[in-house]
Amino acid sequence: MTDFTLITNDQWRKRLSPQEYHVLREAGTEAPHTGEYTDTTTEGVYSCRACGEEIFRSTEKFESHCGWPSFFSPLAGDRIIERVDDSLGMRRVEVLCANCGSHLGHVFEGEGYGTPTDLRYCINSISLKLEEKPVAK
Ligand SMILES: [Zn+2]
Repeated sequence: MTDFTLITNDQWRKRLSPQEYHVLREAGTEAPHTGEYTDTTTEGVYSCRACGEEIFRSTEKFESHCGWPSFFSPLAGDRIIERVDDSLGMRRVEVLCANCGSHLGHVFEGEGYGTPTDLRYCINSISLKLEEKPVAK
């Protein structure tokens, strides 16, 4: 198995497109309402585009109208790392893939969405890859 934490920036550049590299490895953010999964309701599992680890499921995706795919929970808590991010002059919580350390997006809480967790995992489409398959509730 590949140890994704040992992959160098040069190797990541070869594995990823320039746009994927910018978001996943440089914590970039895709423009709102441009990602391929923003409004997707297809049943399936979303994996980390950098390493293939399964991270989110369609059953936890909800329509937030914020412009990015939004989930109220990851598939399992140990699939992600949450880290305080004080860039851009505001305190946010960054969401990273626990398997490879790539940037996925941010998580916001207490926004009043009618979801079971009141959390919004605001994730870049380009950080994910959707595999269509039946998902058990
Ligand atoms: Zn990953």
